[in-house]
Amino acid sequence: MNILILGSGGREHSLAWAVLQNPKCDRLIVAPGNAGIEQIADCASLDVDNPSAVCDFAVENSIDFVIVGPEAPLAAGVVDMLRNAGILAFGPTAAAAQLEASKTFTKEVCDAAGAPTAAWARFTEAGPAKDYIRQNGAPIVVKADGLAAGKGVVVAMTEDEALAAIDHMFDGAFGAAGAEVVIEEFMGGEEASFFVLCDGQTCLPIGTAQDHKRAYDGDEGPNTGGMGAYSPAPVLTDAIADRAMAEIIEPTMAEMTRRGTPYTGVLYAGLMIEDGQPRLVEYNARFGDPECQVLMMRLGGQALDLMLACADARLADAQVQWADDHAMTVVMAAKGYPGSYRKGSVINGLNDMPETSSQMVFHAGTTEKDGKITATGGRVLNVTARGKSLQEARDQAYAMAAQIDWPEGFYRQDIGWRSL
Ligand code: ATP
Repeated sequence: MNILILGSGGREHSLAWAVLQNPKCDRLIVAPGNAGIEQIADCASLDVDNPSAVCDFAVENSIDFVIVGPEAPLAAGVVDMLRNAGILAFGPTAAAAQLEASKTFTKEVCDAAGAPTAAWARFTEAGPAKDYIRQNGAPIVVKADGLAAGKGVVVAMTEDEALAAIDHMFDGAFGAAGAEVVIEEFMGGEEASFFVLCDGQTCLPIGTAQDHKRAYDGDEGPNTGGMGAYSPAPVLTDAIADRAMAEIIEPTMAEMTRRGTPYTGVLYAGLMIEDGQPRLVEYNARFGDPECQVLMMRLGGQALDLMLACADARLADAQVQWADDHAMTVVMAAKGYPGSYRKGSVINGLNDMPETSSQMVFHAGTTEKDGKITATGGRVLNVTARGKSLQEARDQAYAMAAQIDWPEGFYRQDIGWRSL
């Protein structure tokens, strides 16, 4: 079959890599792709946030199956339009993708479903929001309602910090995304990511992971899109995963169906786990980046069968074949990231890197110029390895990173510290 993947990051490189291992894939196009993806698949320039452009492209190229990587095309309704045109697509409709796009929507769904999450209140004016903070005290969490690229959340350790966040958001720091503000109870515990495929009727867990959000070692420095991840997450034991399915995921999915907007695609639940109890922090309507890279490394070619079963409402008959293994990815970023950084520096050493089913360098912000790979983004490479233990995966990933000659890049030295 002919497959189209939308996106250009490390997530999409790992999806392409996994899909290509499955003999069902005859032709793969990734739009827009990057320099690493170009080495394994055809890349095409396409406005992926424009549903009719995606649909026209899919028809012109006889595409049988579309996999949507990032959230923006989902929120724009790409999956809705593809399905209306009779093209199989992996991902939720725009209405169901609200689970990621709006925090108040998610909170309302969780309340209706009885899913455990932080107590919350919503505000459209600063005065009442500040009164609420003074009544409840710190620590407390202040969030802009809409999508703010991970920057719309302030975990305030003091009341003053929370009050300042209210001023900042109502002063328009996040535009329309901050017109409504959610204030939440602070939840303690350890965070982990739980990935579940949903076809509107059946939910199938496909793995767990833990991410590292801060830029520097020891979880210091500013928040980023993620500096490394590993799978599985030991904190998310089978017993806790079963609880998360029964208490959070299944009731949420049932509520979405009851509302007439069944959820289809991968549901990425950010969980906070304390004393054996999982509570929901947030939902995302797509794979995480870099969590996808470690999931794909472990799933390999069966990822395509699972995504097809999901898009085709056949998950009830699907099964995940788990190898008893571990994967880790280390993100190499441009010096200065997540602040300003230089573009165009040359990366050497990639050509000599063996790429196998247990080690891959997934590209994110790269392009090829005059036969050289250059950095064009903040997060640039995802050095990924699989092993019998997390330590083995870690040793391999760091050995590979050490071979990459990129003086203008940096990476954390302590990915996996919590589990090792
Ligand atoms: P954005 O909407 O700006 O893209 P986001 O969707 O990533 O941000 P959340 O996942 O809701 O925002 O929050 C970001 C982080 O803040 C979480 O990963 C978690 O570490 C912390 N956090 C959020 N809510 C809580 C809470 N109620 N208690 C404790 N920590 C929290």
